[in-house]
Amino acid sequence: MNDTVLADNQARAQEMLATQWQLFLDGGLRDAQNGATFDVVSPHAEQVIAQVPNASVDDADAAVAAATRAWPSWAAMPPTERAKYVSQIASIIEANRDDLALLDAVDGGAPIGIMAMDVNHSAAVCRYFAGLALETKGYSVPLTTGTHFTVREPYGVVAAIVPFNHPILFAVTKLAAPLVAGNCVILKPAEATPLSALWLGKLLSDVFPPGVVQILTGDGPTVPSRLVKHPDVTRISFTGSEQTGRRILRDAADTGVKEVSLELGGKNAMVVYPDADPQEVADAAFRGMNFAWSGQSCGSTSRLVIHETLADKVLNLMVDRLQGRRIGNPVDPSNEQGPMVDKRQFDRVTGFVSEAVEQGARVVCGGGTPATAQHGYYFEPTILDGVDTTDRVAVEEIFGPVLSVIRWNDGDDPVDIANSVRYGLTGSVFSNDVRLALRAAKRIRAGYIWINGSARHFIGMPFGGYKASGLGREESIEELLSYTQVKSIHIVDEVTS
Ligand code: NAD
Repeated sequence: MNDTVLADNQARAQEMLATQWQLFLDGGLRDAQNGATFDVVSPHAEQVIAQVPNASVDDADAAVAAATRAWPSWAAMPPTERAKYVSQIASIIEANRDDLALLDAVDGGAPIGIMAMDVNHSAAVCRYFAGLALETKGYSVPLTTGTHFTVREPYGVVAAIVPFNHPILFAVTKLAAPLVAGNCVILKPAEATPLSALWLGKLLSDVFPPGVVQILTGDGPTVPSRLVKHPDVTRISFTGSEQTGRRILRDAADTGVKEVSLELGGKNAMVVYPDADPQEVADAAFRGMNFAWSGQSCGSTSRLVIHETLADKVLNLMVDRLQGRRIGNPVDPSNEQGPMVDKRQFDRVTGFVSEAVEQGARVVCGGGTPATAQHGYYFEPTILDGVDTTDRVAVEEIFGPVLSVIRWNDGDDPVDIANSVRYGLTGSVFSNDVRLALRAAKRIRAGYIWINGSARHFIGMPFGGYKASGLGREESIEELLSYTQVKSIHIVDEVTS
């Protein structure tokens, strides 16, 4: 059965890859103005599978001009009408779920089944924001006999710049809130995974008025950097690495006064107290690593800060769970993990692991390429024990399938260990003592905490980072409102001198 599905998926992928890949710009599908393209490489086959437009500064400027033209009519539309368009995105991607998941699997390397879940989640986010359309409201204050009220207005042109790890999810969810709020959006997908976003451009090409949604691919920083610096782009929404986020802040500040939100990296801790249930901890630590994406997920709890008395038991249970895991071609629906996105990521992870081993960490399982992999950027789920709090694998984001285990003893404060890194995106606390767990949750300097859980995102709850993990919140009403600015209006009914 799976062989047939695999063959069908491969055939459909070939068919889709043979398409003409084009930018979605000013209501039409177009090549880059200078005709340039760049190669897209399969992380499984290590071969070029497509050539997509390599947009230039001229294309970026054309997109901003089109968005600037489109914006007044889009902003004047009632929010509930705009919400219908965003709900339509949800219906379109659901109808094309298998194709979009297939492209993400081929292009990014995560298994097709899990990428289909990303499509479902994206549709749910669109519907959530569509449902909130009337919440872009103001309030009135009874100050005088006059009337004093606020209105929320969109910024205008939003640049949405996204990373490689959840290609269709970020492409879609970065559109939803700003569109509902009345902005036009120029989306820049990651160069490593441009295909599903370009396919989305095809699917949306007849849906929106020209210039309301545009999708530009490009290799390197040329296009996103131009968008950030463009004087007519006043709201920048970025998800990606801390390094690029800081660059964006600098560039935005050098070229104007712009609103910037940043969803950046993490080095998230799961803090385990001695009274926790080992099986529950092992299951949550496994889930929290997002191994299906080869650990390439920002919220992964990649530091297990565990009390010495539980550590051996939990690690043994995790190893049991990882044994027999199916790692292989991501378009084969029976596989549970695919390759890392590209050679750069693969080399980065390999480098981190070898350095940790040199520094004395013990490889509990994994540590390299699976024996079954003939080619591709595959890396086994890896657990490193005996990691010291100052080791590089304990403080830097690896963004791979590598869990660093830090054991603590009575007398240590595990929350201090959790807080000892520069990042603060997510965190997890395991204990059956509700007071202890809540105290720890409140003390962890991170934006999204699970008590006795991990990994799961709940639409409607603000997601975002403390410290070097970012600025702003998404997946919630805060995200919608962040695409509006507040204006106070006073109707004055008395004449004052
Ligand atoms: P990256 O920073 O290398 O690239 C992200 C995007 O930024 C790409 O589209 C890229 O073209 C663009 N870019 C590159 N240079 C730019 C410049 N000078 N100006 C503007 N844009 C520029 O990130 P990546 O390697 O694709 O993704 C991995 C990172 O993303 C990890 O650090 C991960 O933690 C983070 N991430 C964070 C979240 C979150 O919600 N906090 C979610 C997913 C990923």
